[in-house]
Amino acid sequence: MSTTLFRQHPQYSCVYGPVKSWRFGRSLGIDPIGCVSSCSFNCVYCQLGKIQQQTTKRQVFVPTTQILDELRAIAPLEQIDVVTLSGSGEPTLALNLEKIIGIVRKVTRLPTVVLTNSTMLHDPTVRNALKLADTVAAKLDAISLNQLQQINRPEGTMNLPGILAGIEQFRQEYPGHLAIQTMVLSLWTPNMAKDYIEMIQRLQPDEIQLNIPSRPRFLVRELEARGNNLVQSPAYLMQNLKCVSTDILAAIATQIQDAINIPVNYPAMA
Ligand code: SF4
Repeated sequence: MSTTLFRQHPQYSCVYGPVKSWRFGRSLGIDPIGCVSSCSFNCVYCQLGKIQQQTTKRQVFVPTTQILDELRAIAPLEQIDVVTLSGSGEPTLALNLEKIIGIVRKVTRLPTVVLTNSTMLHDPTVRNALKLADTVAAKLDAISLNQLQQINRPEGTMNLPGILAGIEQFRQEYPGHLAIQTMVLSLWTPNMAKDYIEMIQRLQPDEIQLNIPSRPRFLVRELEARGNNLVQSPAYLMQNLKCVSTDILAAIATQIQDAINIPVNYPAMA
């Protein structure tokens, strides 16, 4: 990443929110990625807009001490349910992930959640770091290589079997709560749900979280995109994505739930 860009941004804070989350309640956000959005994916629905640095290279983006200082500065943490590592890209790209989760747990004493796009779960160092988190929500949007390219637009030669193998390995090692998070786009069909169910049976998560891109998407990078207090403003270039209806989302959830004995959750206001 560009260290210069990071240092020069006057509004950057690696602790943000709290963000109201239908999945986790009032969530304090920790951004281990920094001012330049960095991810191994460039999802069509990404709220961050077009990813500025698409990479699979792990590095220290934000010093652990900065996160520690910011966390200490806002304590005591009242009316916060969880602390979530997410922010400006893929948190498992942060080389100091294990240290960050460690200090978050120590300072906040709150449940810790990591939202990951699952692409780095093949790396044992990443899997070990994630074991410190109470909940890991691992992304699985695509059920074919074609969909992976269409929806997630991964960096380089990434493939779906490799990503699935990473999640499967993590499941075997991880004692915490593993959720599979899936963005349901308008291209879902009943046949897709069948393939998805087969994958879920293999991965054995504790929960499935179906989501929809209900919030407008920034087309270019804006720091406010990390939270959910967005205001549609002419000052921002935004795109409203086509969502499936509440009925379709509920029908997909029922189809999955009926096939496998794993809770399926989705936003009530979908
Ligand atoms: S994985 Fe997350 S941060 Fe990365 S491009 Fe997709 S939605 Fe954005």
